[in-house]
Amino acid sequence: MNRLGLPLALVLALVACEAPDDFERLPACGDGACDGQEACEGCPEDCGACGSCGDGACDPGLEETCAECPEDCGACPLHGECGDGACAEQEGESCATCPPDCGSCPACGDGRCDPEALEDCAACPADCGGCDPCGDEVCAAGETCASCPEDCGRCDPCGDGVCDGAHEDCAACPADCGDCGARPGCVQGDFSVYFGNLHAHTSYSDGERTPRVAFEHAYQEGLDFLWVTDHKGQMLERFANCKAEADLVQGRHAGSFVAGCGYEIVILGADGDALGHFNTLFVGTRIPTPVGLDELYQTVAGCAPCVGQWNHPPWPGTFRNYRYAAAGRPAMRLIEFSGRGDWSDKIHAYFQALRNGWQVSPAMNEDNHQENWGDSPRATGVWAAELTRAGLRDAVRANRTFATQDDTARIAFKADGVCWMGSRLRGGGPLDLSVVAHDRQSGDGFRRVDLLGAEGQVLESKACHGENPCRATFTRHPTDARFWVAQAVQTDGDVLISAPIWFEP
Ligand SMILES: [Zn+2]
Ligand SMILES: [Zn+2]
Repeated sequence: MNRLGLPLALVLALVACEAPDDFERLPACGDGACDGQEACEGCPEDCGACGSCGDGACDPGLEETCAECPEDCGACPLHGECGDGACAEQEGESCATCPPDCGSCPACGDGRCDPEALEDCAACPADCGGCDPCGDEVCAAGETCASCPEDCGRCDPCGDGVCDGAHEDCAACPADCGDCGARPGCVQGDFSVYFGNLHAHTSYSDGERTPRVAFEHAYQEGLDFLWVTDHKGQMLERFANCKAEADLVQGRHAGSFVAGCGYEIVILGADGDALGHFNTLFVGTRIPTPVGLDELYQTVAGCAPCVGQWNHPPWPGTFRNYRYAAAGRPAMRLIEFSGRGDWSDKIHAYFQALRNGWQVSPAMNEDNHQENWGDSPRATGVWAAELTRAGLRDAVRANRTFATQDDTARIAFKADGVCWMGSRLRGGGPLDLSVVAHDRQSGDGFRRVDLLGAEGQVLESKACHGENPCRATFTRHPTDARFWVAQAVQTDGDVLISAPIWFEP
């Protein structure tokens, strides 16, 4: 309404009446016909309110259809015509001839993987994803150790501790076969030491922040590697995210940092009792959660790249006192010296497992539940040929690991001067077992170096008087024991403990 209280149409009509007679009439609002430049916005009197039927615009949002409002929307197509909302294939309608009814034709890049349009991972990775690319840590059908050693492991790699007579001999691979003249089973090689953490949580389960933040934090703290191992049940589909984040951060620091994802599971016995916490490492995808020990060891051994780790013994269980299962031997490699329990509990668990026949070596991790990856002074030490996932996996599989309470200190344990810890030696006379303990912080010296026997007892000891490095050699007869372990104690009390050297009579 205007100020006079007259309807706008009337005012306009009055104005029109006052126009001179010779004025050529233009379509005027209020003349009852929606014409000329008129539309519902400027002239609802003639065109009706916007959105109403007859406003000249077909508005499906206001439920105008060809049936309700043919004035605006046009007449409905006859049944079978294009536009009737049904894709009439028998009338010849298809995505090509009638997209309104049949949808647009599949095209690579439309976000839909359509096998009928011959789209697959090879023809259209944009929609279907890449074909299990080499490097995704899944050894898939069609991939082999020859075509993709990154996912499937190397074909009997030199340095895996197995002398494969078909391809390896003492000349081609002294690391596995011994130099021609060295004891059989002697693993030789030029390995560097790396320090890291193989047990850590993030907000993907019961920790904080994301794997990406964790990896970056650990790198900044000076670790060489970090595995994020969230609880499998809570992590769900985020395992794929973890791997993508690991690739991202590792790529950013290529050559100086390795990032990986595994997961932790609680192993329950058939009656629901907790047998222990278990880390699956180097795993490409989430594999089924096993129940009971037989299933556990079979499951992990069935995964080509996987390595198993017993977490924080003896809590909440000891995997039935580390009862031996042959099925688990190929994949079981690590036992933690960290977490709940005393040092003596860790020693007890380690030597019990070794006496039972397991081929395991120490790890010392942080089991982070806060934003502190790499902040502690303890670490898992690994002697590896290269700082890559494959290099670390080969080293762990060959048991070249140690636990250290000081992540600048290392321990190297060898037999006959050349056979690395992890070697499974056979034959010959007395063994020279040598230990080199070294802290790269020159002021942080050693109190003593010990050779430990099968019960974890000290067989022999050498006093170091604060030396750094401290070297010791102990001579033992092969029939003394089936394995030996070296231990070094620093003047500040920090302890390092090595992998075993085995002797198989
Ligand atoms: Zn745990
Ligand atoms: Zn944990």
